[in-house]
Amino acid sequence: ATPTALLVGTGRGAQLGVLITGPEVLESTRRVDTIVLDKTGTVTSGRMSLAGVHPADGVGEAELLRLAGALEHASEHPVAAAIAAGAAERVGPLPTPSSFENRPGLGVHGVVDDRLLLVGRPALLGEWAIRPDAGVAASVAEAEAAGRTAVVVAWDGVVRGALSVADAVKPTSADAVARLRRLGLEPVLLTGDNATVARQVAAEVGIDRVVAEVLPADKAGVVAGLQGEGRTVAMVGDGVNDAAALAQADLGVAMGTGSDVAIEAADLTLVRGDLLAAVDAVRLSRRTLRVIR
Ligand code: ADP
Ligand code: MG
Repeated sequence: ATPTALLVGTGRGAQLGVLITGPEVLESTRRVDTIVLDKTGTVTSGRMSLAGVHPADGVGEAELLRLAGALEHASEHPVAAAIAAGAAERVGPLPTPSSFENRPGLGVHGVVDDRLLLVGRPALLGEWAIRPDAGVAASVAEAEAAGRTAVVVAWDGVVRGALSVADAVKPTSADAVARLRRLGLEPVLLTGDNATVARQVAAEVGIDRVVAEVLPADKAGVVAGLQGEGRTVAMVGDGVNDAAALAQADLGVAMGTGSDVAIEAADLTLVRGDLLAAVDAVRLSRRTLRVIR
């Protein structure tokens, strides 16, 4: 192989908004046959907004928003940012939690106004032995059927309501998925979000294979599983919770708009956070290596 051709490929990549950690990355890019796409922030914008407030009987909307917003203000998760911003907008200044703990891929808990508060996936309730609420469960199901991500809110051992947030598919995602398919890559959607929302996003962009409700610690295992099927896997992600999967993949691809942790774990970065640049990277690697051979 002539290093010159590889370096030309590297330079052309930079022009296309694709940064690679070294010329050898083009070789792994060329071999990839499966591309795992994180949902939030990769296929979707990740800029979520508060879409629905669903209090349980006897709970006020403002109280639900004020307490949940206060706790989520301490978290950096896109779901949390949407809830904190929506709450601040609707109810004004929020109290400061006196304690806070983040549970990656699950939610948050802490103390706000002397109440022990939980906000997160319904699975968190079971862990705290909090009984579900039929009305709130119905609101969650309705929000998910509409393609939104819903989280439950509980304090002092009782479910107090649910909040739902909306995210939008990036304008170029469907086109990028179609082009990746034409290049012979099978797309797989991977997310910690619930299966109903995940399937809706997958349908919107043309992905058939969906792996949902995966905890951050298990994302790398999903990539390893695909490799175990004999596949050569690219993983595209933007979050801290994608870093291990990016490292596990044959080719780790980070969104340049994502977290530094993801970018550091990746072999290749899509500077503008646009999946069409991944298409360019694959085409470039094939062209460059054809020149060399
Ligand atoms: P993704 O794989 O889509 O990036 P995560 O694994 O980070 O998602 O989160 C999965 C799910 O966990 C979210 O959809 C949400 O239901 C829940 N969750 C995570 N963090 C929070 C939080 N701070 N507040 C509420 N829910 C959360
Ligand atoms: Mg993400």
